[in-house]
Amino acid sequence: MTNEMNALVKAHAREGLWLQTAPLPEIGPDDVLIRINKTGICGTDIHIWNWDEWAKKTVPVRLITGHEFAGEIVELGRNAEGLSLGQRCSGEGHLIGNQSRQSRAGKFHLDPETRGIGVNEQGAFAEYLRLPAFNVVPLPDEIDDDIGAILDPLGNAVHTALSFDLVGEDVLITGAGPIGIMAAAVARHAGARNVVITDINQTRLDLAAKVADVTPVNVTQTDLNDIQAQLKITQGFDVGLEMSGNQIALDQMVEAMVMGGRIALLGIPPGKSPVDWSRIVFKAITLKGIYGREIFETWYKMIAMLQNGLDVSKVITHRFGVRDYAEGFAAMKSGHSGKIVLDWRTI
Ligand code: NAD
Ligand code: ZN
Repeated sequence: MTNEMNALVKAHAREGLWLQTAPLPEIGPDDVLIRINKTGICGTDIHIWNWDEWAKKTVPVRLITGHEFAGEIVELGRNAEGLSLGQRCSGEGHLIGNQSRQSRAGKFHLDPETRGIGVNEQGAFAEYLRLPAFNVVPLPDEIDDDIGAILDPLGNAVHTALSFDLVGEDVLITGAGPIGIMAAAVARHAGARNVVITDINQTRLDLAAKVADVTPVNVTQTDLNDIQAQLKITQGFDVGLEMSGNQIALDQMVEAMVMGGRIALLGIPPGKSPVDWSRIVFKAITLKGIYGREIFETWYKMIAMLQNGLDVSKVITHRFGVRDYAEGFAAMKSGHSGKIVLDWRTI
């Protein structure tokens, strides 16, 4: 091993990412070094590529981006227990502290000191990644590197979908992006009666129907009320999963919910947006904000579901060698893709 590697770096304070050499990460006693096999491109990476207002105030220049990955352990810190060299793994990209009340209560995903790899700390779009051993999630043989590379967003979908009991329930998902589509597959797997997914982008709705047994609805063409009538959903949806970050979608969801319905919110609106609070109050709706994945319960559940038949493989629509990363980012920006996986072994 030389002491340099290739990485996708935010090397300049402007649009783009650059494939450059970077120093090989040095690991501490509590870390492991992971050789990256595959990575997934996330919407967050697009914000960083675009260098929008959020990225400018959050991301340091000369940061290695990326947080969705699968690879294998090539070096172990001396305190890294229960892991072995050659172990295939993915991992939790949220690095938590151990000082907050939440952490000390074991609610690691609620730690306010969380730092993200590829956002605040050196990331996974590289040949090698340093990760605390605590964050490593071993991959069983039946989960390949492509799926391993999208466990982070699948985890967002699982965390959101499993927030409320779905068995026998009618579920409305707004936003058929990769996460909404995977949440639809999870809701179906978990025993929902009807799963309806909305979008304004027909390509994505078509993809949703390929990935999961769901009712896709293009809200620019079809009235959601008609679909409810067809499905004999008489009083409204029991559970809503908001996965678009779009205000109109949230309004539509609140309207379509049953009295006492429950909504989990994953989508991130671009700024402050008006909400019809009295409607939410009078419908006695429960709202739950979702951030990241439950560490590590979401990982446990999603791996278990993948092992017992959950199949989200078709959500991956494009695969590129890492040298063609610009094509991957362009496909992602086009809105005509699901998940995009970059292969680091071909470099
Ligand atoms: P995405 O942007 O690929 O998908 C959002 C989808 O919503 C798009 O297909 C878009 O066409 C659709 N949409 C827009 N307006 C709509 C409307 N009026 N009705 C229905 N659909 C509409 O995003 P993604 O990667 O699938 O992620 C989903 C959301 O979750 C995003 O807002 C993302 O920022 C957010 N997110 C949150 C967390 C978290 O921890 N809270 C983590 C990851 C992603
Ligand atoms: Zn992500």
